[in-house]
Amino acid sequence: MNNYKYFDNVKKNGYFTESPCQFCGTTKNCLDGVFFESSDDISSICLECFDKKKIHVSIPEYIKNRIKNNRDQKVNELQFCPPVPWIQNNDWPVCCDDFMVFIGEWEQEEFCSHSTDGDGLSLLKELLADELKNIVESYDALWADLGYETAAFVFMCPNCGKKVVICQDY
Ligand SMILES: [Zn+2]
Ligand SMILES: [Zn+2]
Repeated sequence: MNNYKYFDNVKKNGYFTESPCQFCGTTKNCLDGVFFESSDDISSICLECFDKKKIHVSIPEYIKNRIKNNRDQKVNELQFCPPVPWIQNNDWPVCCDDFMVFIGEWEQEEFCSHSTDGDGLSLLKELLADELKNIVESYDALWADLGYETAAFVFMCPNCGKKVVICQDY
C-alpha cells in the first residue's frame, strides 16, 4: 500500500471493514465506502484497489478552494488518500497552504500523554479547531464523551508543526 501524504500510518489509523472489496473480493485492508462521499454506491474497497485509483474521494469545491498554490496537485493527492471516517464532506483542515496530515484519533489518554503537564483537557481546548471552539457548550462534557459518542481526529501540519483537533459526534 502507498504511503499517503495526508494520512499517517494507515494500518494503525485507518478504519477497516469486514465486507469484501467489491472490486477484487479480498477482505484484507478494506476501507468502508460510506466515507468516500461518492455518488457511486461504494460499500467497500481494499487499499490495493484504492491505490490503483479505481475510485477517489469526493472533495467539495469549498475545501479545494482553501488551497492557493498548486491546488490541482494537492487536491489530486487528497482524492487518493483514505478518507477520515465521520469527517463530514471530507472537511480536511488546511495549514501553510496545504492539507494537514491526519495523525489519528485521540482519546483522553492520548491528550494527557501529549500534554506537557498531564492536563489533557487543556490541550484539547488549545487544539480544537476555531470553528468548533465557538460552538462547544461544555468542555467537560466533550472531554467525558471522548471515545464514546465523540471522536477527536487530530491533524498536524508537517511544515509548521501546528496541530488541530476536529471533533465529530458519531
Ligand atoms: Zn480490492
Ligand atoms: Zn502550518
